[in-house]
Amino acid sequence: MAMPRYDKLVFEIGAPGRVGYSLPASDVPVEDPRAGIPDSYLRREAPALPEVSEFDVVRHYSRLSQLNYGVDTHFYPLGSCTMKYNPKLNETMARLPGFARLHPLTPPASAQGALGLMHDLAQMLGEIAGMDAVSLQPAAGAQGELAGVLMIRAFHRANGEKRTKVLVPDSAHGTNPASTALAGYQVVQLKSLANGDVDLADLEAHLAPDVAAFMITQPNTLGLFEQRILEITDLCHARGVQVYMDGANLNAILGITRPGDLGFDVCHFNLHKTFTTPHGGGGPGAGPVGVKSHLEPFLPAPVVVRRGEAYALDWKRPKSIGKLQAFWGNFGMLVRAYTYIRTMGPDGLREVSENAVLNANYIMARLAKDYDVAAPGPCMHECVLSARKQKKLGVTAMDIAKRLLDLGFYAPSTYFPLIVEEALMIEPTETESKETLDAFCDAMIQIAREAEQSPAVIHEAPVTTSVRRLDQTRAAREPDLRWAPRR
Ligand SMILES: *Cc1c(COP(=O)(O)O)cnc(C)c1O
Repeated sequence: MAMPRYDKLVFEIGAPGRVGYSLPASDVPVEDPRAGIPDSYLRREAPALPEVSEFDVVRHYSRLSQLNYGVDTHFYPLGSCTMKYNPKLNETMARLPGFARLHPLTPPASAQGALGLMHDLAQMLGEIAGMDAVSLQPAAGAQGELAGVLMIRAFHRANGEKRTKVLVPDSAHGTNPASTALAGYQVVQLKSLANGDVDLADLEAHLAPDVAAFMITQPNTLGLFEQRILEITDLCHARGVQVYMDGANLNAILGITRPGDLGFDVCHFNLHKTFTTPHGGGGPGAGPVGVKSHLEPFLPAPVVVRRGEAYALDWKRPKSIGKLQAFWGNFGMLVRAYTYIRTMGPDGLREVSENAVLNANYIMARLAKDYDVAAPGPCMHECVLSARKQKKLGVTAMDIAKRLLDLGFYAPSTYFPLIVEEALMIEPTETESKETLDAFCDAMIQIAREAEQSPAVIHEAPVTTSVRRLDQTRAAREPDLRWAPRR
């Protein structure tokens, strides 16, 4: 069949015969684009597209872009997200035509560079986390969790064991119980100690023979390193329980310690958190998952392998949990993460974590007089404050978050982790200057003063933003998506 030539296509808007715009008539016969579409589905009238000039369009979108809040314009202290830095170099690399224009169906023999990059990225992530094998397929941390739990399930089944429960602490991110339940397990919630640490006695009491895995976040969601982690992983292994590390907080420990060395069997990487790939707009993301060698046979297929000088996709994996992503996963994200890791090098990555931890502790130290801290420091890469003192004055964590918008800052994560009353979770990351951290702390201290002296100004906030306080439920259920500016 002859392919229709792009420059010869005739574009039509409206009912048959009503030509909106057409290129010069073709001497090559082109199939009528309406052929095969039932008559009842064809338009009778042209769509009511707005008649606007180029300036109207450009100004509309420029205005919208300026309403947007992002890392290119402002500080973003949102906790548990580590998403603050998208190096421009990453974008240059991801746009190299050899990567960007690679067709997803290109045979491996013609895609050796891309396969080599995937192979090397998996090796580097394995080295960073102390894991023996890595799959790059999952499209987010949450899907990495699902892949990990499915591999754990396949492992137990292969051993002829029937285990039905997964333990998850009450401080966990919501994706942990969700992905566990999706994998068919019953989720058992464990109560954490006040600082978010695992309660060892309680864990031991729950390690029954029907428990398949224990899933924890390290450092935990209160921004603290779980000190007794070696005891925890040993205890679990002694009962045949696999230990999953939610790697969302990996930014705190790069080059300092490794999940594999701490005894974890599986961990995921959020490339959009730790490895500087873009985090906005819901994706596309990537959440590779690493495993110890006993789980390697269960990795999602295919796996990129090196055979002599060539790279290939290995599909012959009879124990695999199967394919998780169309084609090659979110390949552009893999190029960006690879670029970042190669740019930083091992020493650079360690410096990232050291500075991320330093910055979080600097904020915690400066704010500890005016706000309660969720757990005594030092913290890791993020600090969790509580606005319980301010709440007694009628000012909530939500109010503080809104007031920060007026003062030119994005809000920290609020009300997470759930086990901290009036939680404000602040993660500055390593990339912010001392001047920015100081300006943020000054704003937080100003708000603490206002809570005591003039709480009305906080309750009114925000007044400088394009919209005031939203009815959050209605905003999600009935989004206002009109193209026209408000009249
Ligand atoms: C972000 C996060 C997740 C989920 O990761 P996604 O990539 O957003 O799916 C899981 N656990 C913790 C602690 C997180 O911060």
